[in-house]
Amino acid sequence: MKIPVNEPVIAPESKRAVLEALETGWISSAGPAILRFEQEFAAFVGMKHGIAVMNGTAALHLALASLRIGPGDEVIVPDFTMIATVTAVMYTGATPVFVDVDRETFAMDPMQVALSVTPRTKAILPVHLYGHSADMDPILAIARKHELAVVEDAAEVHGATYKGKQCGSMGLMNCFSFYANKLITTGEGGMVVTNDDALAARAKCLRDLAHSPEKRFVHTDLGFNYRMTNLQAALGVGQLAHLDEYVQKKQWMARRYSEELSSIRGLRLPITKDYATNVYWMYAVLVEDACGITRDELRSRLLERGIDTRDFFYPCHRQPFLSTHPQAKTSFPISEDIAARGFYLPSGLALTEEQLSAVCTAVRDITSERYTLPTLP
Ligand SMILES: *Cc1c(COP(=O)(O)O)cnc(C)c1O
Repeated sequence: MKIPVNEPVIAPESKRAVLEALETGWISSAGPAILRFEQEFAAFVGMKHGIAVMNGTAALHLALASLRIGPGDEVIVPDFTMIATVTAVMYTGATPVFVDVDRETFAMDPMQVALSVTPRTKAILPVHLYGHSADMDPILAIARKHELAVVEDAAEVHGATYKGKQCGSMGLMNCFSFYANKLITTGEGGMVVTNDDALAARAKCLRDLAHSPEKRFVHTDLGFNYRMTNLQAALGVGQLAHLDEYVQKKQWMARRYSEELSSIRGLRLPITKDYATNVYWMYAVLVEDACGITRDELRSRLLERGIDTRDFFYPCHRQPFLSTHPQAKTSFPISEDIAARGFYLPSGLALTEEQLSAVCTAVRDITSERYTLPTLP
């Protein structure tokens, strides 16, 4: 049996909507589904404007560019994140300033953020990881005190909340991804959401090569072509209608995994803080020393049984392409530790009870072998 780490689910009405877009000829970035997806998704998050783009990385870059972040500026980012968070900052010419993370939520540690603000800091970019919110209130307080923009990277948390508020509704401009493995997908896709009319207008303009509103083919700014296609948006509208169900499926998966795996010594299961509702984008665990097996050994033993898993992100400051970054030699103990110990189990929306049980049996077998004493002669 082969169990993939992720397998998406496409709702039947999404398929019909894509076909309809094809049949009516609305295949590029003009078309009725784009506005509808933008409005419905923004309304779901509780924000006024949605600006749909071609992927989550573009959403992050577009948000930062709309905020006029550029060379000489600093943006505070967690050291433990998907690399797009960092590259988006670098596309603007600004410097990403890394901070260490919280060992329970894996998100940026507000205390470290407070210590990293300099006169050049322009924004804080918290990332909500694996379905769980960052601790936003202290981050928002630091931002208010120093008049910094907050841009949430909400790529992994569609539907998750922090103290009752949707993730992606707390910063000035917030970003989502609709990549194939995210809670809702458009194949590739992303969105910026904001309540600010002027920033929304600027983001829409920059998304479309910054055509001057007065005269097409006259450009007042350095823009990008980050447009989403109507085909993708059609897919998105149908997916969004099922988000509640997808979140419930992920929460069911997490409950079942936790029931089956909680007795394994040294395997740290996901932690949900009081302030959060966790949508368990991925079921992420840490392999502690007490487990008696390393993360990499456990993963390769699972793979031998046909079970695909993913290890955690690599600490950003250690990325080879950042070897000349001022913090390349700095130590970020928690980020480094969780990056070495963490991985996630098969967590796709198509995961069946049978597959889940097989994964749990395999994890239990492999980890318990370490404790079986040799039988005495
Ligand atoms: C997926 C993801 C992104 C990037 O999204 P793409 O659509 O793949 O460009 C950014 N940040 C985080 C935390 C992600 O998980």
